[in-house]
Amino acid sequence: MKLPIVFSPRYDIRVLGIEKLHPFDSEKYGKVHRYLVDKVGIDEGSFYAPDPATDDVLLKVHDANYLDSLHKSANIALIAEVMVAALLPNAILQKHLLEPIRYATGGTILGLALALEHGWAINLSGGYHHAKAESGGGFCFFADVPIAVRNMWETDPDRKVLIVDLDAHQGNGNASILGDDPRVRIFDIFNGSIYPGDHEAARYVKYNHPVRMYVSDGEYLGLLESELPPAIEESSPGLIIYNAGTDVLAGDPLGGMNITAEGIIRRDGFVFRSAIDRKIPILLLLSGGYTRKSAGVIGRSIGNILIHVVGVRP
Ligand SMILES: [Zn+2]
Repeated sequence: MKLPIVFSPRYDIRVLGIEKLHPFDSEKYGKVHRYLVDKVGIDEGSFYAPDPATDDVLLKVHDANYLDSLHKSANIALIAEVMVAALLPNAILQKHLLEPIRYATGGTILGLALALEHGWAINLSGGYHHAKAESGGGFCFFADVPIAVRNMWETDPDRKVLIVDLDAHQGNGNASILGDDPRVRIFDIFNGSIYPGDHEAARYVKYNHPVRMYVSDGEYLGLLESELPPAIEESSPGLIIYNAGTDVLAGDPLGGMNITAEGIIRRDGFVFRSAIDRKIPILLLLSGGYTRKSAGVIGRSIGNILIHVVGVRP
């Protein structure tokens, strides 16, 4: 029997070893999948596999000039923040860097449909929340969430969406693309002292909660647990998209926050339960968090959700 969990072996990013120059474990996707199979006991055959997003799909949100600009390796290198990538043939970057993100985007589209069908779903990638319509940034090339939401609206135009973004970084791309649509509300808790500091995008975020550097479990979870329930009640969404970034983990070199593994597990369980208890479909995306410890924490947290929140019995 299949579970509404989306994964492709094509999610992992391997570009002739240069991915190792970035402070990212770019193979975390496969490791989380492995954890769910080996440690949680999910059958290999239970996962859904996505198709990669075609240009036509990307154009639902992105500007054609922006997509064209990705045919220059130097532009890809800037967005990936790996300058040496500028020296590689564009075809190699397309295949080994952008193609995995096309699969991730297809995974978010499929995950959204599965969430509406099953009440919940997880894409073991996605959440590239810095990508805007005309530009990428912060390792985000394609705006998978806005693309999936616009795709849904083609057949389900009245469905309201609440984006709950708990990645350590402000979700400025999603806010700039979707924030002024009356069907969307955004709830964002992020480190207010780090990238991207996008005050223009923040104007579109109804529930905007910057927190201080090195915030720890008590303060962070207290804020979430007091502020999220009224935001859900007030916005009464027909879908919650949860950007469950794990770069909030203590020691993450990019996030600058001090949340424990146990804090992340409690956080993810709380968000998931908040949706399930209200019978609101929820789609979880992995978003940021690429330390060597990240995959294990994500695997434990998803295992906790599966067993203790949605009641999967592997
Ligand atoms: Zn992040």
